[in-house]
Amino acid sequence: MPLGCDLSWVCIKQVGLFQLTMNFVRYYPIASLAFFLFWVWKKGYFQRFRIQEAFPRWDRIRYEIIQSAVTLFVFTAIGLSVFIGRKAGILPGEIYRDASKYGGWPYMLLTIVLVTIWHETWFYWMHRLVHRKALYRHIHLVHHKSTNPSPLAAYNFHALEAFLEGIYLVFFTCVMPMHYGILLGHTFYAMVMNIWWHLGYEFFPSWWATHPIFKWINTSTHHNMHHAKFDGNYSLYFNFWDRIMGTNFPDYEKHFAEVTARRRKLKAGSAVTV
Ligand SMILES: [Zn+2]
Ligand SMILES: [Zn+2]
Repeated sequence: MPLGCDLSWVCIKQVGLFQLTMNFVRYYPIASLAFFLFWVWKKGYFQRFRIQEAFPRWDRIRYEIIQSAVTLFVFTAIGLSVFIGRKAGILPGEIYRDASKYGGWPYMLLTIVLVTIWHETWFYWMHRLVHRKALYRHIHLVHHKSTNPSPLAAYNFHALEAFLEGIYLVFFTCVMPMHYGILLGHTFYAMVMNIWWHLGYEFFPSWWATHPIFKWINTSTHHNMHHAKFDGNYSLYFNFWDRIMGTNFPDYEKHFAEVTARRRKLKAGSAVTV
């Protein structure tokens, strides 16, 4: 973010443009790179790692690409509103740049842990909420039109859902001051993980979903099942809330075993399009 900006129109435009550029420049190249590598260039080689063997039609992917831009504009609007709100003294909280402030690294590590737990919790319950009938039909359906998502479905959200997806961080920074670098790192990590869950490929080992420790970390198959079957597997980074609330699909572990077993059977090549 440009340093030393005030609430002048020139500054607001500069900050808005900077945030918009940053959002676009980090999402589309990374999601497109994943798409190009797995869905185009090495499609045949990676076929045995596919979660759903078939590929969606191009018009679905085009929709994901266009709708993702809506999310990037909403994220920018949130960021710019926070900048204006804090500069005007209306919004509490702080994004700081001096790493030694608040005791340095121990505090910064604490914010990494807490923002991850908060994001997980916010996302799970917000996700359950948007699966309620009326909200689903008017908001969340946009994301679920992709029953076989591509990496470019990661930000394929209705504008209102994009708002709900991004606002958790505003709440967090209102309560806990956050270092600018940690904020950037967290949002980048969240974005990359989101692309990973929509990749359409499973690279984790076959024992992952039943391992006493690793089963608590979500897989790409976990979220892919959510797109294919809708009413289960709601969680984000961890399989915590789904397990304690009983919302994992009962056949998640079985399906994961089937997906990973297919690797041994299939040889590279023969991609299918439906
Ligand atoms: Zn959903
Ligand atoms: Zn999704």
